[in-house]
Amino acid sequence: MNKTILGLVILSQIACSKSEDTASTSTTTTGTVDITTVVQSKFFNGVTVASSGTSIVLKSNGLPDHKTPYWGVGNALYEDFPTNYHANVNTSMTSHTYAMTIVAKPVVSTSHEETTLGAIGMALNGVPIYNDREGGNVALDALTITTFDYSGAHPGPGKDYHYHTTGRYTTTDDANLVGFLRDGFPIYGRKDKDGTYPTLDTYGGHTGITADFPEGIYHYHASNVNYLNTGYYVLKAGSYYGTKGTFTE
Ligand SMILES: [Zn+2]
Ligand SMILES: [Zn+2]
Repeated sequence: MNKTILGLVILSQIACSKSEDTASTSTTTTGTVDITTVVQSKFFNGVTVASSGTSIVLKSNGLPDHKTPYWGVGNALYEDFPTNYHANVNTSMTSHTYAMTIVAKPVVSTSHEETTLGAIGMALNGVPIYNDREGGNVALDALTITTFDYSGAHPGPGKDYHYHTTGRYTTTDDANLVGFLRDGFPIYGRKDKDGTYPTLDTYGGHTGITADFPEGIYHYHASNVNYLNTGYYVLKAGSYYGTKGTFTE
């Protein structure tokens, strides 16, 4: 590929990302850490990973690999609700056709766009990650949380199963890699690799080494706040550190 064609390709990619997301201001700098190898090796449960070199497209059906009552009684992966369960109006989940596009080398954004309702990232098993908001863009309340299974998850009106918080099959009180957010940065459990609780910035992350990135990378952590004293810990609230890519259904 000569330089002119390469330039055109890059220009068209920038134009594309801007037209899809006019609210954010993309930075032109490039991150130093390439996440491609880790992404390719860590996602499972049928998630496909396609890499172009500069971006990565992850496709999943959004169904968990683990037990949840939302599989329905009789399913091999059915398990009961936590004891505080309160009837959920959305009682079942179905498969979807999700595609998340993230950059291979995530970088800090100058705009720090707010996360919004809907998928803000993808867990390693292909289940969407949501923030601390529910329909109407209100913060999760105690009643909504009683619709959660042991994984801090439930389906929305579109029967779309998603994680809001830490849980039994993703991360509890550990340094597990949970997934990647739409800005390409990884998200971990409440602890760092050395077993300590890190001090986080306003975006819920910090730069440091992880088990997957021994050279160091900016990464998010689940909140270390026992949310409304429910025993659940919100995975991610507030703004992105980097520039979000697309998440389509
Ligand atoms: Zn929800
Ligand atoms: Zn950390």
